Amino acid sequence: MNNSIIDNLVKILKTLPGIGPKSAQRIMFFLLRNKKVGTDLYKSLNDVMLNINQCTMCFNFTTKNICDICSSQDRINCKQICVVENPADVFAIEQTGQFSGLYFVLFGCLSPIDGIRSNDINLDMLENRLKKNLIKEVIVATSSTVEGEITSNYIAGICKNYNIVVSRIAYGIPVGSEIESIDFNTLSHSIIRRYKINS
Ligand code: ZN
Repeated sequence: MNNSIIDNLVKILKTLPGIGPKSAQRIMFFLLRNKKVGTDLYKSLNDVMLNINQCTMCFNFTTKNICDICSSQDRINCKQICVVENPADVFAIEQTGQFSGLYFVLFGCLSPIDGIRSNDINLDMLENRLKKNLIKEVIVATSSTVEGEITSNYIAGICKNYNIVVSRIAYGIPVGSEIESIDFNTLSHSIIRRYKINS
């Protein structure tokens, strides 16, 4: 298109995850035909950009200095902290209702291949927090990928230095699935990390 303001919008849309050139153009035409949606989107984006910060305790996104989870009276003195890669992981774990402790968001994983080191994500901040000796158990909920495992091992090393119990969330067979349909790696992992049922 030969219009710089429209070209600029398409250029910005293309930088969003999962949006290619064709989708960017489709969204642009949709917004031009539906100006109310465009205006609402603009207002909402503006609100979010102006008001959302990172919690100074867990680094999750919040409108406050300290987020609702970190400042919750039920959790504020909790000695368990669950370390995740992204804010979306906090949301997913909260949805299960199975964890009522604190969180810490790393915003990524260690990746030697991509040159991502401890100070590129929030690992140094995590160590600063653990140093204070208020946390007694760390639950590592990073992905089941090479990077997730490297990060998990790094966190286990920090915890060892401060005598903190560290556990890793379990990976294995999806609930309701049959053994023969499980992929090789998942099945191998579930056998290695098996647990006793005759306690
Ligand atoms: Zn927080």
